[in-house]
Amino acid sequence: MMAKNCYQIIIKGIVQGIGFRPFIYTLAIELDLKGWVKNSGEGVVIEVELTTVELDIFITRIKAEKPLQSEIYSLEIKLSNWVGYQQFTIKNLDTIDNRRKTAIVLPDLSTCQECLEEIFNSQNRRYCYPFTNCTNCGPRYSIIKDLPYDRPFTTMSKFRMCKECEEEYYNPKNRRFHAQPNACQKCGPKLELWNKKGNILASFDEAIKKSCNLIIEGKILAVKGLGGFHLIADARHNEAIKILRQRKNRPHKPLAVMYPNLEKIKADCLVSDIEKNILLSVASPIVLLRKVSNLNNLNQKESFKNNPKIDNNYISEEVAPHNNYLGVMLPYTPLHHLLLKKLNFPIIATSGNQKNEPICIDEIEALDRLNCLADYFLIHNRPIFRAVDDSIVRVIDNQMMILRRGRGYAPLPIKLLDFPEEKPHKILALGGNLKNTIAIGFNQQIFTSQHIGDLDKPETIKAYKNTINNLSKIYEFQPDLIVCDAHPDYFSSQYAEELSKQKKPSIPVIQIQHHLAHIFATIAEHNLELPLLGIAWDGTGYGFDDTIWGGEFFYISDTEIKRIGSFLPFPLMGGSQAILQPKRIALALLNLVYNNFQNIPKNLSIIDSYSSSELKLFQTILDKKINTPLTSSVGRLFDGVASLLNIIDNITFEGQAAMNLEFLVSDFCPHKTYTFQWQHQENICNYIDWRSIIREIINDYLEKKSLSLIATKFHLTLVEIIKQISQTINTKNIVLSGGCFQNKFLLENTIQVLKQNHFNPYWSQKIPINDGGLSIGQIAFIIRNMR
Ligand SMILES: [Zn+2]
Ligand SMILES: [Zn+2]
Ligand SMILES: [Zn+2]
Repeated sequence: MMAKNCYQIIIKGIVQGIGFRPFIYTLAIELDLKGWVKNSGEGVVIEVELTTVELDIFITRIKAEKPLQSEIYSLEIKLSNWVGYQQFTIKNLDTIDNRRKTAIVLPDLSTCQECLEEIFNSQNRRYCYPFTNCTNCGPRYSIIKDLPYDRPFTTMSKFRMCKECEEEYYNPKNRRFHAQPNACQKCGPKLELWNKKGNILASFDEAIKKSCNLIIEGKILAVKGLGGFHLIADARHNEAIKILRQRKNRPHKPLAVMYPNLEKIKADCLVSDIEKNILLSVASPIVLLRKVSNLNNLNQKESFKNNPKIDNNYISEEVAPHNNYLGVMLPYTPLHHLLLKKLNFPIIATSGNQKNEPICIDEIEALDRLNCLADYFLIHNRPIFRAVDDSIVRVIDNQMMILRRGRGYAPLPIKLLDFPEEKPHKILALGGNLKNTIAIGFNQQIFTSQHIGDLDKPETIKAYKNTINNLSKIYEFQPDLIVCDAHPDYFSSQYAEELSKQKKPSIPVIQIQHHLAHIFATIAEHNLELPLLGIAWDGTGYGFDDTIWGGEFFYISDTEIKRIGSFLPFPLMGGSQAILQPKRIALALLNLVYNNFQNIPKNLSIIDSYSSSELKLFQTILDKKINTPLTSSVGRLFDGVASLLNIIDNITFEGQAAMNLEFLVSDFCPHKTYTFQWQHQENICNYIDWRSIIREIINDYLEKKSLSLIATKFHLTLVEIIKQISQTINTKNIVLSGGCFQNKFLLENTIQVLKQNHFNPYWSQKIPINDGGLSIGQIAFIIRNMR
């Protein structure tokens, strides 16, 4: 007989809060093994006494049969002292677990099929219970205060389990074994419907019933969900949505819609197989889908005329006006399932916040902050520890691309294989200014925060500081290096200095150029070999020469980084004013093309829209360079072209002009391009002269060519620019990063053309390609350049 030994197996990865220990327990019982399993701050630890043959079988089966949501990053086996165990048990936590806290915190998971069946089964004790969950589903990140993931360290600690729930919780064979948020109608969180004063109007099932009636009446409800409040209204109800837009001061930005089921989504949108899988995944994000309604707009308008209040078959045009896409999701908590089953029509489910503020998470706070937005409040008493917005994804080239990383994805780490082990730095990255996220890097991993928002309101800044503290606390993380954007005016850059000085001795701060951070985020995600050509196109980023960059080409090798190309800079009249009024950009472009407003061809509507004295004033501003910072931004070039084509005046949300231009493109237009000039010379930044592009666009426009044709040609010209520069530089790997590549037509055509020309294009998929990815890129840049 072979000798048995005692082994300790330490498994790191996504192994807590998803039924990993009961899985190990069940497997050990089946294999007749003795020992124990427990959670630790590092992951899961197993101690087991067996022969080497048994060990092989045990490990093979762990890897092959592990729970669906789990992921093993490392599995370490070491010999331990023989004890002579008589049985296999699941051990409780050691009271003091002083190991490093590196276990992976799981994101919140959408309701599983089994829980769903229970809440709709009138015989089940959880029938209609809106907080039903199990080890396969339910809240995680939004309720975790500290590691390890155990009930006392979550916001569920205040609920004492009833006898039945407790039995489930301690039974390793039960689906709810150690399901930390386990609860039922008897012992768990409760639902209440409040009016604006906070008076209780109804509770339990009655609250759901009344809420549904109010939604049908066209009322706006603030509903406390998983990671924060939503503002909810009937998506078919024009009036309700108009009121919501007025109250939120959000005239055009598309609103997300929650549908009762997939079939109803298909009535309004095109859904591919991969999009369907994403909608139904445990992350359950908002997916940007192509509207079908554009195809039968006429029908819609007819029925709209007959009944201005409600259009029974279609969602209101007000949901996403002038937009070819719709942000769509499915119910992901029992509460959402219960509401939508009753309503059986799509509802608006937009973040419960004032414009540019963080999402609201507390019901008392909501009564104050959302009072002028909502008519009623559907709330519960399970505290949300941290705000986690809905994630937004879209499908590009048949692959998922995360645009906003929140619920369902945050805070899963990005693994950095080239993190230097010999010098284990602990790096805090503070991100940029818009769509901010922060990140911490240690142990060859980068943990990125959920989407926080634009850092221009005191509430968001408070949430920003909280997120830094919380993420640091969970992982007992103390930075020895801080990285931030190079822009001196960003709050995040200034906060880096402040944090640095708080420590004695102070922590070093390194500023990373915005577009290099964009490119290195993609390099990190795909673990790319250098050299490569990094292309970063976006709206605004601070450049080395104090101008605003945003159309950048970098040659990046192990030994050097060279800015080899950019767009010919143009002035932003009035600085940030020009971003809100694309006409100012259009005028600046025209001035550079025709040297003077006098020479601009007649009949251009943009010129006609100004009086001669206004034009004179603009001419002086441009000639004398009064508050006209220069930019090479492709995002701004999009704004300018959209304005020249007279498709937008003032914008009300970031990226609006570029989106409007994207929506004009058509796959059926001939593949033609405009002319541009670019020549490569060593050791200088070579500018792409776009003036001929603008001149030819004006000619097409004046010849009354279709806007669709012009927009398509403009997009394809940008693709051609990338192709030609790639061919000149001739490195195989091409990185495409920055907010401009959220444009599906631009990115997909670029990928296709680069592949046809034997290049390997890479773009961010798990990390936002926009400024939400900067924090990860800042850490990745430091790591790569430390080697
Ligand atoms: Zn479940
Ligand atoms: Zn209970
Ligand atoms: Zn950017």
